[in-house]
Amino acid sequence: QVETLKEKLLEQAQEISRLRSELGGTDAEKHRDLLAAENERLRQEMKALEGELQRQQQAQCRDCPHLQENAELQEQLSQLQREAEETRARLVELDLEVQQKTNRLAEVELRLKDSLAERAEEEERLSRRLRDSQETIASLKSQPQQIKYIIKTVEVESAKVKQALCETQSRNQYLQEQVGMQKQVLKEMEQQLQSSQKTEAQLRAQIMMYEAELERAHGQMLEEMQAMEDEKNHAIEEAFSRAQVEMKAVHENLAGVRTNLLTLQPALRTLTHDYNNLKRQVRDFPLLLQETLRSARAEISQAIEEVHSTNRELLRKYRRELQLRKKCHNELVRLKGNIRVFGRVRPITKEDGEGPEAANAVTFDADDDAVLHLLHKGKQVSFELDKVFPPQASQEEVGATVRCWCEGGGSHLLLTLPCLPQVFQEVQALVTSCIDGYNVCIFAYGQTGAGKTYTMEGTAANPGINQRALQLLFSEVRGKAADWDYTITVSAAEIYNEALRDLLGKEPQEKLEIKLCPDGSGQLYVPGLTEFRVQSVEDINKVFEFGHIKRVTECTNLNEHSSRSHALLIVTVRGLDRSTGLRTTGKLNLVDLAGSERVGRSGAEGSRLREAQHINKSLSALGDVIYALRSRQGHVPFRNSKLTYLLQDSLSGDSKTLMMVQVSPAEKNTSETLCSLKFAERVRSVELGPVSRKAELGSWPSQEHLEVLETLLGDSPGSSAPAGRGHASPSPGQLSSRSASIRRKLHTSG
Ligand code: ADP
Ligand code: ADP
Ligand code: MG
Repeated sequence: QVETLKEKLLEQAQEISRLRSELGGTDAEKHRDLLAAENERLRQEMKALEGELQRQQQAQCRDCPHLQENAELQEQLSQLQREAEETRARLVELDLEVQQKTNRLAEVELRLKDSLAERAEEEERLSRRLRDSQETIASLKSQPQQIKYIIKTVEVESAKVKQALCETQSRNQYLQEQVGMQKQVLKEMEQQLQSSQKTEAQLRAQIMMYEAELERAHGQMLEEMQAMEDEKNHAIEEAFSRAQVEMKAVHENLAGVRTNLLTLQPALRTLTHDYNNLKRQVRDFPLLLQETLRSARAEISQAIEEVHSTNRELLRKYRRELQLRKKCHNELVRLKGNIRVFGRVRPITKEDGEGPEAANAVTFDADDDAVLHLLHKGKQVSFELDKVFPPQASQEEVGATVRCWCEGGGSHLLLTLPCLPQVFQEVQALVTSCIDGYNVCIFAYGQTGAGKTYTMEGTAANPGINQRALQLLFSEVRGKAADWDYTITVSAAEIYNEALRDLLGKEPQEKLEIKLCPDGSGQLYVPGLTEFRVQSVEDINKVFEFGHIKRVTECTNLNEHSSRSHALLIVTVRGLDRSTGLRTTGKLNLVDLAGSERVGRSGAEGSRLREAQHINKSLSALGDVIYALRSRQGHVPFRNSKLTYLLQDSLSGDSKTLMMVQVSPAEKNTSETLCSLKFAERVRSVELGPVSRKAELGSWPSQEHLEVLETLLGDSPGSSAPAGRGHASPSPGQLSSRSASIRRKLHTSG
């Protein structure tokens, strides 16, 4: 307040001074002064000019040229006069103005006086207030300074202090709790202390007791020690005396040893000598050893060399022998023909029924197991095949005959043929020649129900050729495992209505094609035909089961279906001779043909007729092919049916074929039986045909083989022309009859 009052005072003073200067002189006053001075100057100038004019007017009369100048000047004069008039008017105006301004000035002066008075009053008032204020300030100043400060600080810090107080209180509480706890602990400690003091007292008592005990024990011990000391001294004395005695004895001994030592020295000398000798020998030993080793090595290597040469010789001989054996074998096969026809008559079964229809119509020759008689319509018809199996022939038997036929040798046959014919034995040799790399076909031919499937597949308890053949292959391969590596694969196919289908494939409905190998070998193959590699009987069983399932799923009646389709099991045997590197591939085709019965032409129609036509066609094509092969014709009509085309490479060349003609002995089947046997004879009859026999027997080895066979049998050629070494080329007729007689011999002696 004091400050504002001072400021106001200053402002008033300034206002006052400003008003004062304003009063000092205005612009109008200055202007008036100036105008007055101007006016004065102009008046003087006018007077001067009037004087000039008078002089000039006086001079004009005499001086005319100045007249004009005079006029000009006069005009100037009048102008100036006009100007002066104007200036005078203005002067009056200015005077008026001055008058007004002076009036105003008076007014202002009046107002100034008023305001000054006001100011003085104000000043008075302010100074009063100033005094009051100063008094108040002084009184305030007299109050104690410290309190003010404290209050201020208290105001500022009170909040902080409150907070601290709170904290302190909480801390205080916590500490009090702690103290309580500590007191508790202290109490417990005191209790413990008391108890430990008690135990201490007890322990002290015990210690005292023990100390007493110890004291006593110590005394006792001292006594004992004393006793022991005495004992020890006594013992020492005794020992000393004893030692002295012993010492004496030892001295005596020592004297004896000394004398001994003297005698030992020469012995030592000889020993050292020996030792030196031995040392020398040991030093020489390695040299000796090396020498011996060298000689031993030389001997061993010589022995090895000898063994090697013997081995080489043996291997050479073995190979020559192998070749010779094969040559002889082939020779023999050529001699006997590699297409054979067997007949098998099944027993009369329940299915044949009873009465005259089921009567037996087939009889056998007691002396010739290749001959069979059929009673047909009251007439007896005889057939001669390569071999005939009667109903009692077991599954094993068939092989034996074939083995002898293949491995060649009448003697062999004489020795091995059992009294009761077994089917498989006859087939065995064929199967094993497949291992040697030959292709083999075994067909089962005959009317439905004549036992084709029985012969080929058999029953689970008594398996047929299929399983036995594979089992035999496995055992033969195992036997040759030392020299040969073999792989055996199996495929199964079916030909139905001239369509070839894979029985092991994923798509049994798919028709397969037979193609010529693109390598130009002339071999045939079936693209897409599944091949399973088999190594055991279990594998085969799996394959068979699988094939059966395929056939069964598409036809509920297996025999119905199988009688109208050809079932093929194709076994391929690939071998590698490790010693010679020779590779062989043999194929064994086991074919269960479709039923050969004639379907009544009038009754059959539609699909049945078509099936019958296909079957007839393919079976007669098979007959034609075998016929052509046996008669060694230039052209063999393989392409006439799928079956013969597929088996082409297994039917021609070195291949071996067995036709197992199945017949039923029942009376009601005689006409079909007759047909089957006629078929059998037709394919077989050509074997001894003059042209082929001539060509065959004209060569030297066959001739010799025949003779060897005969001498082995201890038989002369008989009534037919004698075949001696001198006869270079016997007539075909003679040969054929002689060969037949030998064959007869072979069989009858079995
Ligand atoms: P055969 O003179 O009676 O016709 P082989 O002596 O020609 O009989 O023998 C026929 C087959 O039997 C020959 O291929 C041969 O491999 C085999 N064979 C015969 N005897 C033996 C034998 N002792 N050792 C080895 N193989 C033999
Ligand atoms: P196919 O296959 O020719 O139609 P199967 O093999 O089915 O003929 O034979 C017909 C019936 O005759 C079957 O029940 C079979 O067991 C029986 N059978 C055929 N051959 C013989 C045989 N040699 N011994 C015993 N039973 C046979
Ligand atoms: Mg069948």
